[in-house]
Amino acid sequence: MNDATSKPAQHERTVERLVQGIQTSDGAGVRLTRVLTQNLQRRLDPFLMLDAFRNDNPDDYIGGFPDHPHRGFETVTYMLAGRMRHRDSTGHEGLLGPGGAQWMTAGSGLIHSELPEQEQGLMEGFQLWLNLPAANKMLAPSYRDIPSAAIPEFTTGEGVLVRVIAGESHGTAGAVQRPHTEPLLLDVHLPQGSQFVQALNPGHNAFTYTYRGTVDIGDTAVPDHNLAILSNDGGDSVRVLARSDARLLIVAGQPLNEPIVQRGPFVMNTAQQIEQAFSDYQAGVFDAAHIQAL
Ligand code: MN
Repeated sequence: MNDATSKPAQHERTVERLVQGIQTSDGAGVRLTRVLTQNLQRRLDPFLMLDAFRNDNPDDYIGGFPDHPHRGFETVTYMLAGRMRHRDSTGHEGLLGPGGAQWMTAGSGLIHSELPEQEQGLMEGFQLWLNLPAANKMLAPSYRDIPSAAIPEFTTGEGVLVRVIAGESHGTAGAVQRPHTEPLLLDVHLPQGSQFVQALNPGHNAFTYTYRGTVDIGDTAVPDHNLAILSNDGGDSVRVLARSDARLLIVAGQPLNEPIVQRGPFVMNTAQQIEQAFSDYQAGVFDAAHIQAL
């Protein structure tokens, strides 16, 4: 029994299950692992997708992601190695490099391309899709480039490097804050034997993705290339112990609890809205000539 006068103990989340995702390709033949697949969209609301790519054979990335549309959500790209150029029909253009991020709010819709700006070498990174609340899905698109130097980071006494892309960690505010979904996105690098504790809002869905080494979360070993869904048991933190030198993403957000209907590059609340997105796309509503004339 809890003693009402004592300080409440920190309640750490455990691992509900591990997910390895599926090997697939997207765009013009880019090989990637779709770690967060559509069947997890409800469980990990407000997150819709996580792709991880790590290719050193140019044949596996050189085609990139030529012109394609989006509507109804946000895309967050985080690069570890390599360079990718972004262009979109709102007139934005940017070069995403190692350690940098790009935060694109597709909102009512745009057409963009994401193309490698290298012909050899490693291309490694992630793309996370974050839903928008129904009320904001048709707001005007927006876009932000966040170069590596603009991502706040700190190092703990144990030598753990924490890069705060979104949200907040140990008093360090991230590069991006978003209303409604309140996303947390950390890139954490742990030396072997070190540990790191991150506060989590007890009402948020949360997961980790290990992309180097193996970590322990509670009693569960989470190996390289595994997404760990964290239990929703009211826990207010997650503790990560590094069995080896390890790197992982820690991701959390406020669920929207709204209907999710995805078809391809469009994520809306109803099938009728999806039909509308396709007919608007075909009618040229997402084209530069249309958007930039508004
Ligand atoms: Mn895209």
